[in-house]
Amino acid sequence: MRKKKLSKEEHHILREKGTEAPYTGKYYMHDEKGVYVCAGCGKPLFSSEMKLDSLSGWPSFFDAQKGSVEMKKDKSHLISRTEILCKNCGGHLGHVFNDGPKPTGKRFCVNSGALHFKKK
Ligand SMILES: [Zn+2]
Repeated sequence: MRKKKLSKEEHHILREKGTEAPYTGKYYMHDEKGVYVCAGCGKPLFSSEMKLDSLSGWPSFFDAQKGSVEMKKDKSHLISRTEILCKNCGGHLGHVFNDGPKPTGKRFCVNSGALHFKKK
């Protein structure tokens, strides 16, 4: 896998655990068929079939590709959240919440800047 140079925004999200402003990301209203890969290492993380309507303002998914992400408790803010990391490169992707639809009940809320899209 080729190592891509990160843009300033990608670096901020993946490596400094930044969060993009809601409704600004390039994928939150994106509904093409394909695969969302990690902007840091190119590993497939989510598919378009897993995508939810992003009412929150960020791309949201009800599931992730098996074994592609890691979850970690994040207590850096007053509320306790669960952080999502790329299992391959450790890049920060976003947070996961337990208010998603069935069958997973999860909502993976991901920064567009942590993703690249590969059209099917
Ligand atoms: Zn990665």
